[in-house]
Amino acid sequence: MIDLRSDTVTKPTPGMLDAMMSAKVGDDVFGEDPTVLALEAKGAEMMGMEAAIYCPSGTMTNQIGIHILSNPYEEVICYSGAHIYKYEGGGVAGTSGLSFRFLDGDRGRLSAREIEAEINPDDIHYPITSIIELENTVNKGGGCYYTLDQIKSIHTVAVKHGLKMHLDGARLFNALAETGENPADYNEYFDTISICLSKGLGAPVGSLLVGSQKLINKARRVRKFMGGGMRQAGFIAAAGLYALENHIDRLKEDHQRAKALEEALNQCSLVESVMPVDTNIVIFRLKEGLKVSDTLEKLKEKGILAVGFGARDIRLVTHLDFGDDQLEQAVAIIKAL
Ligand SMILES: *Cc1c(COP(=O)(O)O)cnc(C)c1O
Repeated sequence: MIDLRSDTVTKPTPGMLDAMMSAKVGDDVFGEDPTVLALEAKGAEMMGMEAAIYCPSGTMTNQIGIHILSNPYEEVICYSGAHIYKYEGGGVAGTSGLSFRFLDGDRGRLSAREIEAEINPDDIHYPITSIIELENTVNKGGGCYYTLDQIKSIHTVAVKHGLKMHLDGARLFNALAETGENPADYNEYFDTISICLSKGLGAPVGSLLVGSQKLINKARRVRKFMGGGMRQAGFIAAAGLYALENHIDRLKEDHQRAKALEEALNQCSLVESVMPVDTNIVIFRLKEGLKVSDTLEKLKEKGILAVGFGARDIRLVTHLDFGDDQLEQAVAIIKAL
């Protein structure tokens, strides 16, 4: 089976497994796991931030980030297809008591101008707008990305109105592989950044939240009450550390393979259109009258696993375990559908 449902399906490489098996560990709730501490230090340093905290999932790092930047009854501005809204089980409402203000943006990329128009005036009828949340790359937007210039102008609006900024950087390194920008340049524009180690970077589990020391101290308390304090977590943190050291430079390969899938899909008789492919996500729309569930079944019969992504859309994601042999097979299958 060629599994393109998500970039979360990868298994540890032999080198990563070695790193995991030889990890030095301790009780991380007591702050005594040297490998977790090393991972947090590395993540903070790469992002040019003071501190980082290791968590079991990107959902948790997003939820903690938003929680520590807001008070109940306030409002977060984000893309209507944002992961924090669509795929985190209602956590923002439940854990932080916030309401959402949605924007569509350009494939989910918001502009400074449209954000500014949605900030509530100081009037007791309205919730206080407190956070701008951006996603980079944008999952629902087919893996498109922001440039730092775009983010800079959004940050100017945030400063002008006293708003905080949180980045869902589940696939930030995929964006940076394309823009060539330095991750440490992000620290000026965001209060908190969530980074998934378990997506394109290929670790089996885990995410980092980075920010100032003061915010990360606060995050540690929230992680505890969410049940995310882990004990000898160094065994999995070692995989994250290995991923940061070894799997960033190869992300472009995933993007090239995604481009090849885009080309094949453009020649497929079932496909009406393919969203432009910018990174490792490929979203395509089926021709009128075709059903997503039938098409997924058909793909599965031929050996490709994918996921439905709306009424007429299907998503494929390339990753570390999808090499050139599988690409060749996948292209042949798609063209023959
Ligand atoms: C995967 C993902 C997350 C985090 O998901 P977890 O499965 O909880 O790690 C957050 N944001 C985006 C855009 C994602 O794709």
